[in-house]
Amino acid sequence: MKFTLSSVTKCSGRLGVLGGLDRLPNLSLPTPAIIFHTKGGSIPHLSKEAFQHVHPEPAAVLHLSISNTLHMQEAVRASRMTIAEFIAQNSSATMLFPRDPSEVPIPGTPEKDLLPVYTRNGRRSISMEQYMTLVEAFRPDAYAPLYDGDTDGKSSKKREQKSFDRTEMFVEQCLEWHRKSDGLQASRLIGPVVGGYNEKLREKSIELLRKSDDLFAGYLIDGLHMNGPAVARLDGTAVLPIVENVCKALPEEKVRLCFGSYDPTLVLDLVTAGVDIFDTSYVYLKAAQEHRALVFSFDVSAPEQRHTTTELDTTDAQWAEDFGPLLAGCRCYTCTKHSRAYVHHLYNTREMLGPILLMMHNLHHYIEYFKAIRQHVQNDSLPELKKHLAGQKALPPYEPPKEADKVLVPAGEKETGVPVEEMDDKLHKKQRA
Ligand SMILES: [Zn+2]
Repeated sequence: MKFTLSSVTKCSGRLGVLGGLDRLPNLSLPTPAIIFHTKGGSIPHLSKEAFQHVHPEPAAVLHLSISNTLHMQEAVRASRMTIAEFIAQNSSATMLFPRDPSEVPIPGTPEKDLLPVYTRNGRRSISMEQYMTLVEAFRPDAYAPLYDGDTDGKSSKKREQKSFDRTEMFVEQCLEWHRKSDGLQASRLIGPVVGGYNEKLREKSIELLRKSDDLFAGYLIDGLHMNGPAVARLDGTAVLPIVENVCKALPEEKVRLCFGSYDPTLVLDLVTAGVDIFDTSYVYLKAAQEHRALVFSFDVSAPEQRHTTTELDTTDAQWAEDFGPLLAGCRCYTCTKHSRAYVHHLYNTREMLGPILLMMHNLHHYIEYFKAIRQHVQNDSLPELKKHLAGQKALPPYEPPKEADKVLVPAGEKETGVPVEEMDDKLHKKQRA
Protein backbone atom coordinates (compact mmCIF):
# COMPACT_ATOMS: atom_id res chain seq x y z
CA MET A 1 0.00 0.00 0.00
CA LYS A 2 1.46 3.30 -1.07
CA PHE A 3 0.33 6.90 -0.76
CA THR A 4 1.42 9.41 -3.38
CA LEU A 5 1.01 13.05 -2.42
CA SER A 6 0.30 15.11 -5.52
CA SER A 7 -0.22 18.63 -4.19
CA VAL A 8 -0.53 20.67 -1.03
CA THR A 9 -2.66 23.82 -1.26
CA LYS A 10 -2.46 27.03 0.73
CA CYS A 11 -5.98 27.03 2.22
CA SER A 12 -7.59 23.72 1.27
CA GLY A 13 -5.53 20.73 2.40
CA ARG A 14 -3.87 18.23 0.09
CA LEU A 15 -4.52 15.89 -2.83
CA GLY A 16 -3.07 12.44 -3.19
CA VAL A 17 -3.68 8.89 -4.32
CA LEU A 18 -3.72 5.76 -2.20
CA GLY A 19 -2.87 2.60 -4.16
CA GLY A 20 0.15 0.43 -4.74
CA LEU A 21 -1.36 -2.78 -3.43
CA ASP A 22 0.43 -5.81 -4.94
CA ARG A 23 -2.82 -7.76 -4.74
CA LEU A 24 -4.90 -5.03 -6.44
CA PRO A 25 -2.58 -3.07 -8.75
CA ASN A 26 -5.52 -1.25 -10.38
CA LEU A 27 -6.93 0.07 -7.12
CA SER A 28 -6.31 3.78 -6.78
CA LEU A 29 -8.18 5.94 -4.33
CA PRO A 30 -7.92 9.69 -4.96
CA THR A 31 -7.80 11.58 -1.65
CA PRO A 32 -9.41 13.26 0.26
CA ALA A 33 -11.49 10.08 0.22
CA ILE A 34 -13.91 7.89 2.12
CA ILE A 35 -13.50 4.22 2.84
CA PHE A 36 -16.65 2.18 3.39
CA HIS A 37 -17.69 1.44 6.96
CA THR A 38 -18.88 -2.18 7.25
CA LYS A 39 -20.38 -4.52 9.80
CA GLY A 40 -19.18 -8.09 9.44
CA GLY A 41 -17.57 -7.03 6.15
CA SER A 42 -20.89 -5.87 4.62
CA ILE A 43 -22.08 -2.32 4.08
CA PRO A 44 -24.94 -2.21 6.63
CA HIS A 45 -28.35 -2.85 5.05
CA LEU A 46 -26.97 -3.22 1.52
CA SER A 47 -26.65 -6.43 -0.47
CA LYS A 48 -23.70 -6.60 -2.84
CA GLU A 49 -26.07 -5.79 -5.74
CA ALA A 50 -27.51 -2.76 -3.94
CA PHE A 51 -23.99 -1.52 -3.16
CA GLN A 52 -23.06 -1.84 -6.83
CA HIS A 53 -25.88 0.59 -7.68
CA VAL A 54 -24.18 3.13 -5.42
CA HIS A 55 -20.56 2.32 -6.20
CA PRO A 56 -20.33 0.75 -9.68
CA GLU A 57 -16.50 0.57 -9.69
CA PRO A 58 -15.22 -2.97 -9.06
CA ALA A 59 -12.84 -1.94 -6.26
CA ALA A 60 -13.53 -0.22 -2.97
CA VAL A 61 -11.67 0.09 0.32
CA LEU A 62 -13.57 -1.46 3.23
CA HIS A 63 -13.28 -0.57 6.92
CA LEU A 64 -13.64 -3.61 9.20
CA SER A 65 -13.64 -3.76 12.97
CA ILE A 66 -13.47 -6.50 15.56
CA SER A 67 -16.80 -6.12 17.40
CA ASN A 68 -18.74 -7.41 14.39
CA THR A 69 -16.18 -9.77 12.81
CA LEU A 70 -14.87 -11.65 15.86
CA HIS A 71 -17.53 -14.37 15.46
CA MET A 72 -16.30 -15.02 11.89
CA GLN A 73 -12.77 -15.86 12.98
CA GLU A 74 -13.02 -19.67 13.16
CA ALA A 75 -14.87 -19.93 9.86
CA VAL A 76 -12.31 -17.69 8.10
CA ARG A 77 -9.41 -19.69 9.51
CA ALA A 78 -11.00 -23.02 8.55
CA SER A 79 -11.67 -21.77 5.03
CA ARG A 80 -7.98 -20.72 4.64
CA MET A 81 -9.29 -17.67 2.79
CA THR A 82 -8.37 -14.07 3.49
CA ILE A 83 -11.16 -11.94 4.93
CA ALA A 84 -11.58 -10.27 1.50
CA GLU A 85 -12.17 -13.67 -0.12
CA PHE A 86 -14.40 -14.85 2.72
CA ILE A 87 -16.79 -11.89 2.42
CA ALA A 88 -16.74 -12.23 -1.41
CA GLN A 89 -15.05 -8.84 -1.83
CA ASN A 90 -11.76 -10.02 -3.26
CA SER A 91 -11.56 -7.07 -5.66
CA SER A 92 -11.75 -4.65 -2.72
CA ALA A 93 -9.07 -3.71 -0.21
CA THR A 94 -9.71 -4.49 3.47
CA MET A 95 -8.53 -2.46 6.46
CA LEU A 96 -9.03 -3.80 9.98
CA PHE A 97 -9.25 -1.59 13.08
CA PRO A 98 -10.05 -2.37 16.73
CA ARG A 99 -13.05 0.00 16.94
CA ASP A 100 -16.22 0.49 14.88
CA PRO A 101 -16.69 4.28 14.48
CA SER A 102 -20.49 3.88 14.71
CA GLU A 103 -20.33 2.19 18.14
CA VAL A 104 -19.73 3.85 21.50
CA PRO A 105 -17.11 1.85 23.46
CA ILE A 106 -17.90 0.18 26.78
CA PRO A 107 -17.68 2.84 29.52
CA GLY A 108 -15.34 2.51 32.46
CA THR A 109 -11.63 1.97 32.89
CA PRO A 110 -10.35 -1.03 30.93
CA GLU A 111 -8.14 -3.72 32.42
CA LYS A 112 -4.44 -3.17 31.88
CA ASP A 113 -3.75 -5.39 28.90
CA LEU A 114 -7.23 -5.96 27.46
CA LEU A 115 -9.54 -4.06 25.13
CA PRO A 116 -13.24 -4.54 26.01
CA VAL A 117 -15.68 -4.88 23.09
CA TYR A 118 -19.36 -5.68 22.70
CA THR A 119 -19.82 -8.46 20.17
CA ARG A 120 -22.94 -10.24 18.94
CA ASN A 121 -22.14 -12.87 21.58
CA GLY A 122 -21.91 -10.34 24.41
CA ARG A 123 -19.01 -8.55 26.07
CA ARG A 124 -15.50 -9.77 25.32
CA SER A 125 -12.11 -8.55 26.51
CA ILE A 126 -9.53 -8.83 23.76
CA SER A 127 -5.87 -9.40 24.55
CA MET A 128 -3.02 -8.54 22.18
CA GLU A 129 -2.58 -12.28 21.44
CA GLN A 130 -6.27 -12.70 20.60
CA TYR A 131 -6.23 -9.63 18.38
CA MET A 132 -3.14 -10.67 16.44
CA THR A 133 -4.50 -14.22 16.06
CA LEU A 134 -7.60 -12.66 14.49
CA VAL A 135 -5.46 -10.47 12.23
CA GLU A 136 -3.46 -13.53 11.13
CA ALA A 137 -6.67 -15.39 10.31
CA PHE A 138 -8.09 -12.44 8.32
CA ARG A 139 -4.88 -11.27 6.59
CA PRO A 140 -6.34 -7.83 5.76
CA ASP A 141 -4.53 -5.55 3.31
CA ALA A 142 -3.86 -3.13 6.16
CA TYR A 143 -4.56 -3.01 9.87
CA ALA A 144 -3.91 -0.99 12.97
CA PRO A 145 -2.20 -2.69 15.92
CA LEU A 146 -4.31 -3.03 19.05
CA TYR A 147 -4.44 0.34 20.83
CA ASP A 148 -6.47 2.36 23.31
CA GLY A 149 -7.98 5.45 21.71
CA ASP A 150 -11.03 5.66 23.97
CA THR A 151 -10.59 9.28 25.03
CA ASP A 152 -12.54 12.45 24.30
CA GLY A 153 -12.69 16.10 25.36
CA LYS A 154 -13.97 15.09 28.80
CA SER A 155 -11.23 12.56 29.57
CA SER A 156 -9.04 13.28 32.58
CA LYS A 157 -5.27 13.75 32.26
CA LYS A 158 -4.89 10.38 33.97
CA ARG A 159 -7.10 8.66 31.39
CA GLU A 160 -5.20 10.31 28.52
CA GLN A 161 -1.92 9.08 30.01
CA LYS A 162 -3.39 5.61 30.36
CA SER A 163 -4.49 5.63 26.73
CA PHE A 164 -0.92 6.55 25.74
CA ASP A 165 0.73 3.94 28.00
CA ARG A 166 -1.58 1.13 26.94
CA THR A 167 -1.16 2.05 23.28
CA GLU A 168 2.63 2.08 23.64
CA MET A 169 2.52 -1.41 25.16
CA PHE A 170 0.05 -2.82 22.61
CA VAL A 171 1.83 -1.33 19.59
CA GLU A 172 5.27 -2.63 20.64
CA GLN A 173 3.88 -6.14 21.16
CA CYS A 174 1.92 -6.10 17.89
CA LEU A 175 4.92 -4.88 15.88
CA GLU A 176 7.04 -7.66 17.33
CA TRP A 177 4.36 -10.19 16.38
CA HIS A 178 4.02 -8.66 12.91
CA ARG A 179 7.75 -8.86 12.18
CA LYS A 180 7.82 -12.57 13.03
CA SER A 181 4.59 -13.50 11.26
CA ASP A 182 4.94 -15.19 7.85
CA GLY A 183 1.21 -14.77 7.17
CA LEU A 184 1.24 -10.99 7.63
CA GLN A 185 4.08 -9.99 5.36
CA ALA A 186 1.63 -8.78 2.68
CA SER A 187 -0.39 -6.74 5.22
CA ARG A 188 0.56 -3.14 5.91
CA LEU A 189 0.32 -1.41 9.27
CA ILE A 190 -1.45 1.82 10.19
CA GLY A 191 0.03 3.66 13.19
CA PRO A 192 -2.50 4.88 15.80
CA VAL A 193 -1.79 8.39 17.12
CA VAL A 194 -3.39 8.78 20.58
CA GLY A 195 -3.09 11.14 23.55
CA GLY A 196 -6.54 12.73 23.74
CA TYR A 197 -6.44 16.53 23.98
CA ASN A 198 -2.98 16.61 25.52
CA GLU A 199 -0.52 18.16 23.03
CA LYS A 200 2.54 16.75 24.81
CA LEU A 201 1.17 13.21 24.74
CA ARG A 202 0.27 13.59 21.07
CA GLU A 203 3.89 14.59 20.33
CA LYS A 204 5.17 11.62 22.30
CA SER A 205 2.76 9.28 20.54
CA ILE A 206 3.99 10.42 17.12
CA GLU A 207 7.64 10.24 18.21
CA LEU A 208 7.12 6.67 19.34
CA LEU A 209 5.39 5.57 16.14
CA ARG A 210 7.95 7.27 13.93
CA LYS A 211 10.67 5.04 15.32
CA SER A 212 9.00 2.32 13.25
CA ASP A 213 8.00 4.64 10.38
CA ASP A 214 9.16 2.14 7.74
CA LEU A 215 6.57 -0.36 8.98
CA PHE A 216 3.63 2.06 8.74
CA ALA A 217 1.78 2.75 5.51
CA GLY A 218 -0.08 5.60 7.20
CA TYR A 219 -1.28 7.04 10.48
CA LEU A 220 -4.68 7.02 12.16
CA ILE A 221 -5.54 10.05 14.29
CA ASP A 222 -7.70 8.67 17.10
CA GLY A 223 -8.64 9.50 20.70
CA LEU A 224 -10.63 12.60 19.72
CA HIS A 225 -14.09 11.23 20.60
CA MET A 226 -15.97 8.14 21.77
CA ASN A 227 -17.47 7.23 18.36
CA GLY A 228 -21.21 6.84 17.75
CA PRO A 229 -23.77 9.49 16.67
CA ALA A 230 -22.60 12.16 19.18
CA VAL A 231 -19.48 12.73 17.01
CA ALA A 232 -21.71 14.63 14.54
CA ARG A 233 -22.13 17.31 17.23
CA LEU A 234 -18.43 17.50 18.10
CA ASP A 235 -17.01 20.95 18.82
CA GLY A 236 -14.58 21.75 16.02
CA THR A 237 -12.81 24.48 17.97
CA ALA A 238 -11.38 21.87 20.38
CA VAL A 239 -10.65 19.16 17.80
CA LEU A 240 -9.00 21.21 15.08
CA PRO A 241 -5.91 22.53 16.93
CA ILE A 242 -5.09 18.93 17.94
CA VAL A 243 -5.54 17.54 14.43
CA GLU A 244 -3.64 20.45 12.85
CA ASN A 245 -0.63 19.90 15.13
CA VAL A 246 -0.70 16.14 14.67
CA CYS A 247 -0.77 16.55 10.88
CA LYS A 248 2.16 18.99 11.02
CA ALA A 249 4.20 16.47 13.00
CA LEU A 250 3.40 13.50 10.75
CA PRO A 251 5.52 12.75 7.69
CA GLU A 252 3.98 14.37 4.59
CA GLU A 253 4.39 11.29 2.42
CA LYS A 254 2.21 9.05 4.60
CA VAL A 255 -1.57 8.89 4.39
CA ARG A 256 -3.56 10.22 7.39
CA LEU A 257 -6.83 8.64 8.45
CA CYS A 258 -9.42 10.02 10.87
CA PHE A 259 -12.57 8.01 11.56
CA GLY A 260 -15.92 8.98 13.08
CA SER A 261 -19.32 10.32 12.06
CA TYR A 262 -18.14 13.92 11.68
CA ASP A 263 -20.54 16.60 10.49
CA PRO A 264 -19.85 17.38 6.79
CA THR A 265 -18.72 20.93 7.68
CA LEU A 266 -16.16 19.64 10.20
CA VAL A 267 -14.92 17.21 7.52
CA LEU A 268 -13.90 20.26 5.46
CA ASP A 269 -11.90 21.66 8.37
CA LEU A 270 -10.21 18.30 8.90
CA VAL A 271 -9.34 18.15 5.19
CA THR A 272 -7.85 21.64 5.45
CA ALA A 273 -5.85 20.47 8.47
CA GLY A 274 -4.35 17.68 6.33
CA VAL A 275 -6.52 14.58 6.86
CA ASP A 276 -6.76 12.34 3.76
CA ILE A 277 -9.18 9.52 4.60
CA PHE A 278 -12.53 9.33 6.42
CA ASP A 279 -15.15 6.59 6.76
CA THR A 280 -18.90 6.36 6.03
CA SER A 281 -20.24 5.73 9.55
CA TYR A 282 -21.94 9.17 9.39
CA VAL A 283 -24.01 8.06 6.41
CA TYR A 284 -24.99 4.82 8.13
CA LEU A 285 -25.97 6.45 11.44
CA LYS A 286 -28.12 9.03 9.63
CA ALA A 287 -29.87 6.42 7.49
CA ALA A 288 -30.26 3.53 9.90
CA GLN A 289 -30.65 5.16 13.29
CA GLU A 290 -32.04 8.60 12.54
CA HIS A 291 -34.03 7.83 9.34
CA ARG A 292 -32.68 10.99 7.78
CA ALA A 293 -31.70 11.63 4.18
CA LEU A 294 -28.65 13.83 3.58
CA VAL A 295 -29.79 16.72 1.38
CA PHE A 296 -27.15 19.37 2.11
CA SER A 297 -26.02 21.28 -0.96
CA PHE A 298 -22.38 21.28 -2.06
CA ASP A 299 -22.92 22.98 -5.40
CA VAL A 300 -21.50 26.46 -4.85
CA SER A 301 -22.74 27.52 -8.28
CA ALA A 302 -26.34 27.16 -7.00
CA PRO A 303 -26.51 29.68 -4.12
CA GLU A 304 -30.31 29.31 -3.95
CA GLN A 305 -29.78 25.79 -2.59
CA ARG A 306 -28.33 27.31 0.54
CA HIS A 307 -31.85 28.00 1.73
CA THR A 308 -32.65 24.32 2.14
CA THR A 309 -32.09 22.20 5.25
CA THR A 310 -29.10 19.86 5.44
CA GLU A 311 -31.18 16.74 6.21
CA LEU A 312 -34.68 15.45 5.52
CA ASP A 313 -36.45 13.64 8.34
CA THR A 314 -38.28 10.81 6.59
CA THR A 315 -40.36 10.06 9.70
CA ASP A 316 -42.05 13.47 9.37
CA ALA A 317 -45.72 13.17 8.33
CA GLN A 318 -45.36 16.27 6.13
CA TRP A 319 -43.87 13.99 3.40
CA ALA A 320 -46.84 11.57 3.38
CA GLU A 321 -48.13 12.98 0.10
CA ASP A 322 -44.95 14.42 -1.36
CA PHE A 323 -44.23 12.52 -4.56
CA GLY A 324 -40.97 14.27 -5.31
CA PRO A 325 -37.57 12.57 -4.80
CA LEU A 326 -35.67 12.77 -1.51
CA LEU A 327 -33.45 15.36 -3.18
CA ALA A 328 -34.33 17.13 -6.42
CA GLY A 329 -31.71 16.47 -9.10
CA CYS A 330 -30.11 13.50 -7.24
CA ARG A 331 -29.23 10.69 -9.64
CA CYS A 332 -29.14 7.88 -7.09
CA TYR A 333 -31.26 4.72 -7.35
CA THR A 334 -33.64 5.84 -4.59
CA CYS A 335 -34.27 9.33 -5.97
CA THR A 336 -34.75 8.17 -9.57
CA LYS A 337 -37.23 5.43 -8.63
CA HIS A 338 -38.99 6.48 -5.43
CA SER A 339 -40.62 9.40 -3.68
CA ARG A 340 -40.42 11.00 -0.26
CA ALA A 341 -43.96 9.71 0.34
CA TYR A 342 -42.85 6.12 -0.36
CA VAL A 343 -39.79 6.31 1.93
CA HIS A 344 -42.00 7.85 4.64
CA HIS A 345 -44.51 5.02 4.15
CA LEU A 346 -41.69 2.45 4.53
CA TYR A 347 -40.77 4.02 7.85
CA ASN A 348 -44.39 3.93 9.04
CA THR A 349 -44.78 0.27 8.10
CA ARG A 350 -41.33 -0.65 9.53
CA GLU A 351 -40.28 -2.16 6.22
CA MET A 352 -36.63 -3.17 5.89
CA LEU A 353 -36.50 -1.50 2.49
CA GLY A 354 -36.67 1.90 4.25
CA PRO A 355 -33.08 1.93 5.60
CA ILE A 356 -31.87 0.22 2.41
CA LEU A 357 -33.19 3.03 0.19
CA LEU A 358 -31.92 5.67 2.63
CA MET A 359 -28.45 4.07 2.76
CA MET A 360 -28.34 4.06 -1.05
CA HIS A 361 -29.21 7.75 -1.25
CA ASN A 362 -26.97 8.84 1.63
CA LEU A 363 -23.94 6.90 0.35
CA HIS A 364 -24.42 8.28 -3.16
CA HIS A 365 -24.72 11.82 -1.76
CA TYR A 366 -21.60 11.41 0.36
CA ILE A 367 -19.56 9.97 -2.52
CA GLU A 368 -20.59 12.96 -4.67
CA TYR A 369 -19.73 15.29 -1.77
CA PHE A 370 -16.19 13.93 -1.66
CA LYS A 371 -15.85 14.41 -5.43
CA ALA A 372 -16.78 18.07 -4.85
CA ILE A 373 -14.28 18.29 -1.98
CA ARG A 374 -11.45 17.01 -4.20
CA GLN A 375 -12.39 19.52 -6.90
CA HIS A 376 -12.33 22.36 -4.36
CA VAL A 377 -8.98 21.23 -2.95
CA GLN A 378 -7.61 21.18 -6.49
CA ASN A 379 -8.86 24.75 -7.04
CA ASP A 380 -7.79 25.74 -3.51
CA SER A 381 -11.36 26.95 -2.93
CA LEU A 382 -12.42 24.84 0.05
CA PRO A 383 -13.30 27.96 2.13
CA GLU A 384 -15.92 28.79 -0.52
CA LEU A 385 -17.52 25.35 -0.11
CA LYS A 386 -17.39 25.73 3.66
CA LYS A 387 -19.19 29.07 3.46
CA HIS A 388 -21.82 27.52 1.17
CA LEU A 389 -22.43 24.71 3.69
CA ALA A 390 -22.43 26.97 6.73
CA GLY A 391 -25.38 28.93 5.36
CA GLN A 392 -27.66 25.89 5.34
CA LYS A 393 -30.07 25.17 8.11
CA ALA A 394 -29.65 22.04 10.24
CA LEU A 395 -32.61 20.09 11.62
CA PRO A 396 -32.96 19.88 15.40
CA PRO A 397 -30.86 17.01 16.84
CA TYR A 398 -32.41 13.59 16.45
CA GLU A 399 -34.46 12.27 19.37
CA PRO A 400 -34.76 8.47 19.54
CA PRO A 401 -38.39 7.29 19.48
CA LYS A 402 -39.98 5.93 22.63
CA GLU A 403 -39.54 2.18 23.17
CA ALA A 404 -43.02 1.38 21.79
CA ASP A 405 -42.39 3.30 18.54
CA LYS A 406 -39.00 1.80 17.72
CA VAL A 407 -38.37 0.68 14.17
CA LEU A 408 -38.10 -3.07 13.83
CA VAL A 409 -34.78 -3.02 11.95
CA PRO A 410 -32.13 -2.56 14.63
CA ALA A 411 -28.89 -0.76 13.90
CA GLY A 412 -26.34 -3.11 12.48
CA GLU A 413 -28.89 -5.63 11.23
CA LYS A 414 -27.45 -7.95 8.62
CA GLU A 415 -28.27 -7.30 5.00
CA THR A 416 -31.31 -9.15 3.74
CA GLY A 417 -29.52 -10.77 0.83
CA VAL A 418 -32.58 -10.09 -1.34
CA PRO A 419 -31.79 -8.04 -4.44
CA VAL A 420 -33.19 -4.56 -4.04
CA GLU A 421 -35.36 -4.82 -7.17
CA GLU A 422 -37.11 -7.91 -5.81
CA MET A 423 -37.78 -6.17 -2.51
CA ASP A 424 -39.11 -3.17 -4.42
CA ASP A 425 -41.53 -5.32 -6.38
CA LYS A 426 -42.67 -7.14 -3.28
CA LEU A 427 -43.25 -3.92 -1.40
CA HIS A 428 -44.94 -2.15 -4.28
CA LYS A 429 -47.32 -5.09 -4.62
CA LYS A 430 -47.99 -4.98 -0.90
CA GLN A 431 -48.56 -1.26 -1.01
CA ARG A 432 -50.94 -1.54 -3.96
CA ALA A 433 -52.84 -4.34 -2.22
ZN1 LIG B 1 -30.75 10.36 -4.01
